[in-house]
Amino acid sequence: MNPNPEPVPALGDIPPDVFRKHLHEMADWIADYREKIEERPIAPNAKPGAVLAQLEAAPPETGASLDDIFADIERVIVPGVAHWAHPQFMSYFGCTTTSPGILAEMITAAMNVNAMTWRTSPAATELESLVLNWLRQWLRLPDDFSGVVYDTASISTMHALAVAREEASTSVRTLGLSGRTELPIFRIYVSDQAHSSVEKGAIALGLGEHNVRRLACDTQFRMSVAALREAVASDLRHGFKPLAVVATVGTTSTASVDPVREIAEVCAQYQMWLHIDAAYGGGLALLPEHESVTDGWAEADSLVINPHKMLFVPFDFSALYVRDIERLRRLFTLAPEYLHLRDPAGAEINYMDYGVQLGRRFRALKAWVVWRAFGREGIAARIREHLRLAQLFAGWVKDDPRFELSAPVMMGVVCFRLKNADDKAGDRKNSETVAGVNASGKAYLTQTKLRGRIIMRLGLGNILTTEDHVRRVWEIIRAAV
Ligand code: PLP
Repeated sequence: MNPNPEPVPALGDIPPDVFRKHLHEMADWIADYREKIEERPIAPNAKPGAVLAQLEAAPPETGASLDDIFADIERVIVPGVAHWAHPQFMSYFGCTTTSPGILAEMITAAMNVNAMTWRTSPAATELESLVLNWLRQWLRLPDDFSGVVYDTASISTMHALAVAREEASTSVRTLGLSGRTELPIFRIYVSDQAHSSVEKGAIALGLGEHNVRRLACDTQFRMSVAALREAVASDLRHGFKPLAVVATVGTTSTASVDPVREIAEVCAQYQMWLHIDAAYGGGLALLPEHESVTDGWAEADSLVINPHKMLFVPFDFSALYVRDIERLRRLFTLAPEYLHLRDPAGAEINYMDYGVQLGRRFRALKAWVVWRAFGREGIAARIREHLRLAQLFAGWVKDDPRFELSAPVMMGVVCFRLKNADDKAGDRKNSETVAGVNASGKAYLTQTKLRGRIIMRLGLGNILTTEDHVRRVWEIIRAAV
């Protein structure tokens, strides 16, 4: 017998009592993180590679204790992130986590179900249908629209454009695009403020980035319908096939809203697919006083909204609605044999049939928990407060002779810049102000470009943000100038 046998690695999960101990500690850690988040610097002032340099590069050969692992999380990982949940993080869109959302995510992780078919998790599928139906009603979309949940708006928009392509050309699903000289070159139209996810979709679908035409906007950063008509007419004269328009409700830089109803008329005239990118701005539909934001939506073929942007669902959750969603299902349904255990009456929904991915997270649970916890009224009240804070901030900008607003304030987004800075040096000053604010660790903004000039941008939407926080951030900005 070998007197010194190699220790046998343990099998199975970690012991239940160890798990329970860590779960309790984790509960306190998360609650403390939320309560004391303002004490943390919002983002590290680190160089790329700083996190990696602190971590063991070699793959672990033997297991470590959870105590050691969590110590490293505290030491390296937590200080190494930008704290999006911090109430003075006002970058991008104010996407936020919420306590009900965190609790739901913990349960989702514990159950670890795959929502690919109804059978693989009936409750995940049926809850997805339920929350999609709630959201459809809140968005005032007619009931011939049905939805599907994906991770992001980029993926939603790609799927919408895939259906548009199939409708316009038939059999791309089976025959593809390459080598088919009988097919026209398709064109997609967006405003020059549209999100780059449209180009990404065109790249993925073989439609070509250059066939996404970016059109001029009016003074309020809304797509010019005259420019759209001109582009379509010109493309038709040159033998292109107008395929789709992507109208944006809440553009990335300024949250402007394209004139959807007029765009819908052009789409109807030229039989183009109308996809609405309401990834951010769609949430405004929950406020009765903003009902007009939904004008023309009922005429669309598809619409994407990201409840993780304005509707308090933790990242990630994107809903795509398609009129007559059978068109999407026909395009993507393709079930391998091992997934053929389906209800013979076909009474169930199998969400894997509605897109490229097979395995799907159980995202509906967090939306269901958050939306039940707040209700439409509670959600609307919180959004209304963010809109008020945006207007308040805009008022301070207007009252300070050193600053000016760069775009109308439509939602929880304020674009502003230093006055008399319409040259490269001015751009640099605006950029440096954003960098200075962000380096303070006490506020976080983004910069963007409007009409060729760098501007500063503040995004509100964090559930923890109050008027005091916005006031403090304004003071930090003024001090940084
Ligand atoms: N559409 C708009 C208007 C956006 O602002 C964004 C990103 O912020 C997207 C689409 C892409 O979103 P996602 O990150 O979910 O793909």
